Amino acid sequence: RHYGDSEKPRCGGCDELIFSNEYTQAEGQNWHLKHFCCFDCDCVLAGETYVMVNEKPVCRPCYMKSHAARCNGCQNAVEPEAQRVTYGSFNWHAEPECFQCSCCSKCLVGQRFMAVEGMLFCSVECKKKTMS
Ligand SMILES: [Zn+2]
Ligand SMILES: [Zn+2]
Ligand SMILES: [Zn+2]
Ligand SMILES: [Zn+2]
Repeated sequence: RHYGDSEKPRCGGCDELIFSNEYTQAEGQNWHLKHFCCFDCDCVLAGETYVMVNEKPVCRPCYMKSHAARCNGCQNAVEPEAQRVTYGSFNWHAEPECFQCSCCSKCLVGQRFMAVEGMLFCSVECKKKTMS
């Protein structure tokens, strides 16, 4: 932090000093309220849930519409705040209904599992039954 930055925070969006007492702190920077916006729809994100996508903030609705990972179990979008399991390019809600053995439906959250082409198995036996 060099001389001249003074005690006023600098906006990470427009690079100007922020003279208002109200501003947003996010991603390790300060922002004018109006300059921390959804990259897709431009809504102001102050106080809202947002998600960083490729280092750009997007609001929750835009995230769910265009960016969310799809659960390989229930095929629904995975909410940004949801617990998830990622394996390779596949995602699952970390829920018993979604992250389960493709053969016997055993819940695999926190368990050892095998993943084959997006299918999950709890054991070699289950894999053999389904894949053969
Ligand atoms: Zn600004
Ligand atoms: Zn948006
Ligand atoms: Zn799911
Ligand atoms: Zn099984």
